[in-house]
Amino acid sequence: TNDEEALAKAAAVNADSEAPTIFDKIIAKEIPSSIVYEDEKVLAFHDVNPQAPVHVLVIPKFRDGLTMLGKAEERHTEILGYLLYAAKIVAEKEGILDGFRVVINNGPGGCQSVYHLHLHVLGGRQMTWPAG
Ligand code: ADP
Repeated sequence: TNDEEALAKAAAVNADSEAPTIFDKIIAKEIPSSIVYEDEKVLAFHDVNPQAPVHVLVIPKFRDGLTMLGKAEERHTEILGYLLYAAKIVAEKEGILDGFRVVINNGPGGCQSVYHLHLHVLGGRQMTWPAG
């Protein structure tokens, strides 16, 4: 559809950029977000355009080159593991531990639009497979 093409194009424009993203402003609390969990390493907040009754984004506070998972280096393994652990904390806090999904969109082909690595934690409804 045209909508899907427009989305893909918008995603491709920002692809692979090291420029600051809207998530920096969310981390700095310069723009408001609905925070679910925060500590010194990660921030988790509700997605503004939820794709499920529960849709939370989990991001590292220091991007450190992790614009996308495809840029991961060995130095990132600790934060990558911690992000998954934080996703579990979020699922617990949101009451969806018995059924949830964690998604990372990577690059234009993966429909990534914000180039600051983030995990989507989705739940609160029956998830279907395959994802679109
Ligand atoms: P997509 O936009 O295709 O879902 P991403 O995986 O890059 O690609 O996800 C970025 C997510 O960030 C989107 O789900 C979008 O709704 C969310 N988002 C964008 N701006 C904000 C914001 N200010 N507060 C919360 N979520 C946001």
